[in-house]
Amino acid sequence: MEATAEFVVESPDVVYGPDAIEAQYEYRTTCVSREGGVLKVYPTSTRFTFRTVRQVPRLGVMLVGWGGNNGSTLTAAVLANRLRLSWPTRTGRKEANYYGSLTQAGTVSLGLDAEGQEVFVPFSALLPMVAPDDLVFDGWDISSVNLAEAMRRAQVLDWGLQEQLWPHMESLRPRPSVYIPEFIAANQSARADNLILGTRAQQLEQIRRDIRDFRSSAGLDKVIVLWTANTERFCEVVPGLNDTAENLLRTIQLGLEVSPSTLFAVASILEGCAFLNGSPQNTLVPGALELARQRRVFVGGDDFKSGQTKVKSVLVDFLIGSGLKTMSIVSYNHLGNNDGQNLSAPPQFRSKEVSKSSVVDDMVQSNPVLYAPGEEPDHCVVIKYVPYVGDSKRALDEYTSELMLGGTNTLVLHNTCEDSLLAAPIMLDLVLLTELCQRVSFCTDADPEPQSFHSVLSLLSFLFKAPLVPPGSPVVNALFRQRSCIENILRACVGLPPQNHMLLEHKMERPGLTRGGPVVAACPVPCKKGPAPTAPNGCTGDANGHSQVEAPQMPTT
Ligand code: NAD
Repeated sequence: MEATAEFVVESPDVVYGPDAIEAQYEYRTTCVSREGGVLKVYPTSTRFTFRTVRQVPRLGVMLVGWGGNNGSTLTAAVLANRLRLSWPTRTGRKEANYYGSLTQAGTVSLGLDAEGQEVFVPFSALLPMVAPDDLVFDGWDISSVNLAEAMRRAQVLDWGLQEQLWPHMESLRPRPSVYIPEFIAANQSARADNLILGTRAQQLEQIRRDIRDFRSSAGLDKVIVLWTANTERFCEVVPGLNDTAENLLRTIQLGLEVSPSTLFAVASILEGCAFLNGSPQNTLVPGALELARQRRVFVGGDDFKSGQTKVKSVLVDFLIGSGLKTMSIVSYNHLGNNDGQNLSAPPQFRSKEVSKSSVVDDMVQSNPVLYAPGEEPDHCVVIKYVPYVGDSKRALDEYTSELMLGGTNTLVLHNTCEDSLLAAPIMLDLVLLTELCQRVSFCTDADPEPQSFHSVLSLLSFLFKAPLVPPGSPVVNALFRQRSCIENILRACVGLPPQNHMLLEHKMERPGLTRGGPVVAACPVPCKKGPAPTAPNGCTGDANGHSQVEAPQMPTT
């Protein structure tokens, strides 16, 4: 089946204006109430108007931990794609691509064509998004080595690719960073040679200056900050210390306990830059969340969902969703990269253990037929540092489930996860989707004042092991529910109904569904930059209704 790159929604509910795409959308859902021992279910409907600004900004990404395996790999991946690099390997020539990225390598089904076949477009075609090749990188690291040396130290990429990238990465040098030894493992101290000194308040100011400097020197419209530095130990949430925005800011001024990652989060929020946490620790303490809410800045976390946990959030969904009672989940990992060495220290391992532990909770709670209240499977996670395997992490899992009539099903899985090559496309999706969300606003009939998404951007849950959600919101870990959430919200922004997979037209004795006009399949992939055709509603732009403006001007949020 051929994926097509561009489409136009032909509907009176969708207007492709010169600045924005506006879509009317009927959000249909159900409310349930318990009345006299009976569950009463009420269908509800709310009319939304979504508005998506079409001009994409010039976007800068600042990585904390830029010189680490993930930071150097993501930078290398974008450069390799931008330069269209290819290199020889023992299994033939390889070309740069973005495999593993939902937005760049995933597709969505638009609907059925005249033959009743599904028509797919790249995920990135749903709405105007920043092209990854256009991202500009900067960042901080407590280790001073340049990005070329960091790439070599990481031992992730083929030698032939490293050789070609070397001259492009040699001049990239991480800015000094904040090192507070008690937060990461003692085994990291040898690489801490690139430090911001001074009081916590001075360190905060320096990070803010760095963000401003990057924004102005690189001519950026927006900056997003992403923590991909080492896992820190958890930070105790203490009333008066970090429980409110005011207390957290005072704590920094007084030089009391604050983790480096929280310092970066606060600096980003104060600069109006979204902050994303790719590690498991509780960087976004209540005070940081309140500050983000006050400043209307997006934050997201925690911990990239890249390997074992991603598989778990599919497998347990499949098992419990099929009516099998999973009773034991045992996960071993061994890895030999610097992340593994850091995690060999108990307080840092504890952060990872917590982040990995709650991943099946929503699936267990969704099935009261199988599980009594409070009942849950045994769930054990072990991580060991084995230097020889480097970045090629091994994840071994055993899932044991009860079958009917006393039977038992045991699944055993061995997953070789090339850690940073799995994490880098997730980091990419995080920044691209966060930036897109900054350009979406909406209102409802009942509340006509335009609003943005909640500052805790739970739409990103697909990409995180332990998703942060707004207070009181359900946490969804099941991977395909998370994916549907992103897909359906983006569909809503162009007035398309949610993907329901019913395919009723193929299940009828006498097919008789009304068909609209044919879907316009303008050109096959790849078709990133073509001439701007006139959309059927009279608006110029590409066939998606997206503007072709080269140097867009965006407010920085
Ligand atoms: P890494 O050890 O290779 O890189 C981390 C970098 O952070 C190092 O270069 C280190 O010098 C730097 N650093 C440490 N403290 C710093 C500070 N305060 N400021 C600036 N830099 C600092 O690790 P990695 O493999 O790149 O992983 C990075 C993080 O991502 C880890 O916390 C890891 O647990 C998390 N993570 C990784 C994956 C994955 O790789 N698949 C998945 C989920 C989460």
